[in-house]
Amino acid sequence: MRLILLGPPGAGKGTQAEKLVFYLGIPQISTGDMLRQARLEQTELGKKAESYMKAGELVPDDVVIGIVNERLGQKDCHEGYILDGFPRSVSQAAALDKMLEARGESITAVVNMIVPEQELLNRLLVRKREDDNEAVIRERLRVYSEQTEPLIDYYRSHGVLKEVEGLGTIDEIFERILGALPTGHESS
Ligand code: AMP
Repeated sequence: MRLILLGPPGAGKGTQAEKLVFYLGIPQISTGDMLRQARLEQTELGKKAESYMKAGELVPDDVVIGIVNERLGQKDCHEGYILDGFPRSVSQAAALDKMLEARGESITAVVNMIVPEQELLNRLLVRKREDDNEAVIRERLRVYSEQTEPLIDYYRSHGVLKEVEGLGTIDEIFERILGALPTGHESS
């Protein structure tokens, strides 16, 4: 199963992705985690990403698409994966489609996690990662609505979009996600 978790920052994509890893037995691919690791290690890529991440902006496509393409080619991705935080723009979605096409594959489902903006702000203000002050958090939400939200229509028009309410307990949301996943997907 090749799954995309879509939704604004603070929607709970990372938390749900971790649970799905155990349930489905496929890896989570989080571009945010990969970029944070690259920053920690101060690799060329990490240095390139740093200023964008600090400002709450998207890291340029060529950087992100490159790391995803490399990651999807690794052995543990052969049975599928959970994409968390990628794609984040229509251009990234188009690049992902090309990567998949080249491998004769397609996305099984895109789960959009719906959470009201005020709730997101509350959650993000509590969670506060390094670099996250309120201005950066607001910028990340603005960037989401401008660049990432159009993906909802993109994937709806591709017939793979599933909508899930992202309010409630972690387990309640997890059950909703499982309920939204197509069955009989093992060979798709
Ligand atoms: P996240 O942990 O997914 O919220 O990502 C943290 C930060 O990493 C984002 O605010 C972006 O600066 C950067 N980032 C993560 N994924 C992407 C992506 N797909 N495209 C561009 N930038 C990304």
